This record gives sequence, C-alpha cells and structure tokens, in this order.
Amino acid sequence: MSSVAVLPRATVPTRPQLSVDLAAVGRNTRLLAERAAGELMAVVKADGFGHGAVDVARTALAHGATRLGVTSLEEAWPLRDAGLDVPLLSWLNPVDADWAAAATRGVDVAVPSLEHLAAVASAPGRHRVHLHVDTGMARDGADPASWTRLCRAARRAEQGGELEFVGIMGHLGCADRPDDDCNARGRTRFAWALDVARAAGLRPRDRHLAATAATLTDPRSHHTMSRVGAGLVGIDPSGTTALHPALTLTAPLVQVRRVRAGTAVGYGHAHRTATVTHLGLVPLGYGDGLPRTVSGRAEVLVRGTRRPVVGLLSMDQLVVDLGDEGADLGETVTVFGPGAAGEPTVADWAAWAGTIEHEIVTGIGSRVQRRTSTAARLRSLS
Ligand SMILES: *Cc1c(COP(=O)(O)O)cnc(C)c1O
Repeated sequence: MSSVAVLPRATVPTRPQLSVDLAAVGRNTRLLAERAAGELMAVVKADGFGHGAVDVARTALAHGATRLGVTSLEEAWPLRDAGLDVPLLSWLNPVDADWAAAATRGVDVAVPSLEHLAAVASAPGRHRVHLHVDTGMARDGADPASWTRLCRAARRAEQGGELEFVGIMGHLGCADRPDDDCNARGRTRFAWALDVARAAGLRPRDRHLAATAATLTDPRSHHTMSRVGAGLVGIDPSGTTALHPALTLTAPLVQVRRVRAGTAVGYGHAHRTATVTHLGLVPLGYGDGLPRTVSGRAEVLVRGTRRPVVGLLSMDQLVVDLGDEGADLGETVTVFGPGAAGEPTVADWAAWAGTIEHEIVTGIGSRVQRRTSTAARLRSLS
C-alpha cells in the first residue's frame, strides 16, 4: 500500500476540483417550472449559489426559466456581458447605486423605500421598477408603515414618465416550515400590499412572493412568478422534494503515511490515533470554505469507503484516517457529491457544521478549480 502507484494522469485530477453538473440544474429547473403557477425567475446571486452564475443562468433559461434575478447590480453586469438578454431583476442595492447603468443595460430594479424611489426616478434613463414590500421579516423591502406613501409616490413618478412600474415583490421568512402561520401572515400582507398599490393607481403585472420552498409547497403564494435559487442547484429548504445536487468536490491525497497508535494529529493534538493506521492528507481546509466546526464529525469517501476526518481542520488541509488499508498517493478523495456512490453530501456537511446547505455551496473558495460538465453544457444549449 505504501508503494507509489502510477496514475493515469489524464483522468485523475491533481488539484482540488469542484465539478458542477449542469444536467442536474436543468432537471431541477424543469421540476420547479412545472410546479410554479406562473413564470420562473432563476435567482443566480452569490455566483449562482457557488455553481457559476452564467452557467446556472444559461442552463435554467434552457429548461423553463424565463427570467433572471440577482441581489446587487454588480451581479447583474456579468449576465448581460455573457449575452443573456432576458428580463433581469436586481433587488438589493444602496441608495446611490448606478441606476443609470441599470436603465442602460435593461436591468429591472426593486425599490424598497422612498429614498430609493427618489434616487431611481431622478437618475437618467428609462427605469423599470418593482416595488418591494417587507412581508414579515423586518429585513429587505419597505416597512409596511411606509407602503401607502411609497405606492403613491411611485404612481406619481410613473405618471411623470420618470419610471415604468412593473410589479411588486415580497419574500416569505418561514417557507421552509410550510405549516408555520408566518406563511399565511406573509401571504395576507402581500395581498394587502397589492390592494394598496392598486388603490394608488398602480397596475402590478409581475406579482412575486414565492422562493424555492413556497414554490414547492404552497401554490397560494405563486401569483405570477416564482423566484427560485436554492432549488435550481438541488437544495430544497422545505425538505419535501427530491432534487438533484449539482456539486462534487474532490481532491487528491497529497501525502499518505503509516502511523503508530497514539499519534497526535493536527493543531492542538485534538485527535490521537487509537491504533496503528494510515493518515492521508487532503489539500482542502477552512480557507477553501469547509467549515472548521465539522472537526471530529466529518467524513470523506476514499476507495468506496467513508473515512473520518481526524483532528481540527486547518486553513489549507485536513487529515483523513485511512485505516489499515490505506490508499495511494494521488488517489482521489471525494469530499462531497450527490451521494450515489456513498460519498457524503452537501447536506451531510451542513449537518456536521450545524448550518444549511446554502452556506456550504456558496462558501467554496476561489482556490478550488471549477469544472463544468461538458455534456450537460451542450445539452443545456440545445
Ligand atoms: C435568495 C432569494 C430568493 C431565492 O430564494 P431560494 O430559497 O434560494 O429559492 C428569492 N427572493 C429573494 C428576495 C432572495 O433574497
């Protein structure tokens, strides 16, 4: 086992690699598009939840999504640069954002306050505006106390030709728990917000409240459009629907050694080997987005067997107990994947870290080489 294997260099990745399966994104998009009563907006914020914003956007548009959504305008530009010319909405921007550029590049903007409205309306260009109401999270969106004034001001700006009013958006804070009454209150608040807007003379063509969880569990929230992000990449916050995870993280073993029982491993000697065993070194750590809090719980797949990660994760590396069998230098370790071969999933890593899958997939660092599955890319373009 300690002999150095001759590896088929063409097939074995020699660096940590994050593979993105766009075919999975395509399948997830189709399922969500079938469930949604209205149009499907593909939310590709945070670099498409770490999967590559342009790749996810293009794939989703080829499988049933008709629009794109991002948080900041800075996230919108690369989509336009890539030639994606569908309706595109940006909903979280500082009051002095480049509204003129948004108009020039045909990006719709969400307006959450009178201050934002004034800034948008006075910027050069033809602005397409969605008003954003807080439907019960005390987070982004307009405070309901200011909603009537915001709607009236938007109507005046529309009549003055300063903007084109397009729609109204809200967001549910508890949709991952479909039975929570917070959802009914959010839907009611949204219906009220639509009534107030209509009473102010606005005609919201786009009315959108549901994200992934509500799209999968609550048709009453669908209105004319669903904004889905997590679901595209295989994450179902409601835990009700089998979606397809799209990421696989692998790395080569860069060192393998046989050690005695009682060998202390890593910083602080947080682990000592119980027996004679082999330790394998994987060049991935918390600097690459693997949470340090998984120390003592995480596993990886080596030669078809789950092996424990031992000791504390370092910034750049982690140590795996390979047992008596060991493994060869350069052999591929699967950190996570869809789970079909027995490898841990992103959901496993999230559970070990006490967090949600979103945080794992958006956290994988730029040091990890990205690879997009070519077959899926071709299919997505056809
Ligand atoms: C992130 C986000 C979404 C997408 O939510 P998912 O649960 O990932 O589908 C939709 N709307 C807003 C306002 C968001 O911030």
